[in-house]
Amino acid sequence: MHEISLVQGLFQQLGDLAAENQASKIISVTMDIGPLSGVVVDSFRFGFDILSAESDLVRGAQLIVETSPARYACTSCGNVVETADKKPDGCPQCGDLLLFPQGGDDIILRSVEME
Ligand SMILES: [Zn+2]
Repeated sequence: MHEISLVQGLFQQLGDLAAENQASKIISVTMDIGPLSGVVVDSFRFGFDILSAESDLVRGAQLIVETSPARYACTSCGNVVETADKKPDGCPQCGDLLLFPQGGDDIILRSVEME
């Protein structure tokens, strides 16, 4: 599962952050997962639950996932469509079918609360 390796990467980051801040416990983690990142949020949570149970540092931490909407720009009229859902079928302004995604594929560690 792709998400497990993402969570492993996240835990490495958390370990580094905790070491830098001389923290011994992660309280909460806020992630921003773009709708076009290909990450299944439920799987990510699942992986987080499994791996955090094995980590003294992260055990019991709260995972907060924010998803920002995806943006698609119309190649004809430049109209930008914002959607939290799947890609729109066409531009609502001019009907053109060629829409390009703009961002929305990022996985960002927004904030970490630790002690
Ligand atoms: Zn358009």
